[in-house]
Amino acid sequence: MGRVYIGCHLSSAKGYRAMGETARSIGADTFAFFTRNPRGGAAKAVDAADASALAALMAEHGFGPLVAHAPYTYNLCSAKEGAREFARTAMREDLERLEALPGNLYNFHPGSHVGQGADAGIQLIADALSEVMFPGQRTVVLLETMAGKGTEVGRSFEELARIIDAVARRNPAAADILGVCLDTCHVSDAGYDVIGDLDGVLDELDRVIGIERLRALHVNDSKNARGARKDRHAKLGEGYLGDPALGGGPEVFARIVRSPRLQGLPLILETPNELPGYAREIAWLRDLAQEG
Ligand code: FE
Ligand code: FE
Ligand code: ZN
Repeated sequence: MGRVYIGCHLSSAKGYRAMGETARSIGADTFAFFTRNPRGGAAKAVDAADASALAALMAEHGFGPLVAHAPYTYNLCSAKEGAREFARTAMREDLERLEALPGNLYNFHPGSHVGQGADAGIQLIADALSEVMFPGQRTVVLLETMAGKGTEVGRSFEELARIIDAVARRNPAAADILGVCLDTCHVSDAGYDVIGDLDGVLDELDRVIGIERLRALHVNDSKNARGARKDRHAKLGEGYLGDPALGGGPEVFARIVRSPRLQGLPLILETPNELPGYAREIAWLRDLAQEG
């Protein structure tokens, strides 16, 4: 699999096949979308014909796996049982609906422990995943690496590994289809040296979690320096990862798209762009991938 798949976050307002066509129009061969309104409203019923039309488009044009994104409002480790219950129910619905598009990925933010402590948060998240994931499920669920702002859980590879280990103890079949989505802005903000030492970061991920769990990347620049714990995305080349004036450079993104360990994975842009800006970033990353 000597290639990476590259795409960006797209609006799902016009349905599945329309997202595939939009992706094609900007040179993407994967994409991300919210499973429902990002503020967490009711989900539309799945149009099976629309889902199979997208699957056909993806097969025809050699798309990589899609990366559906859970709304930010889910917090599986809230201090309030009502909020946890909402997140569990909505996530279960999302996963059931994604069975209409089998073989793709579903990524979510582990949650914020809101003062209960990381240990309690990790246990609540693992308990929720153990309940929500179901036998025969064909969607791989990805825990996103977080920047560590506020009380976010998932600011270190160790925290994600502990969630996966706790699920493995309670629901081994669920743990088999758990993975990780590495967000380049978030890991830099969390303190990892993705700017200067991508290989070292991937070695660390392999040691702590296992590189085979890494199934997708969010490729973003960061408005803040390494370790800032802020989580503010920048356009590629306009932040600390990609702007030489801030200590980064194009080579940071070149290493990502050329890394042998990342070939075959979907790379999703979540940069502050409209479609033309995404098209430019996708073309830029493809050029960097080829120049190697
Ligand atoms: Fe995210
Ligand atoms: Fe992200
Ligand atoms: Zn972010």
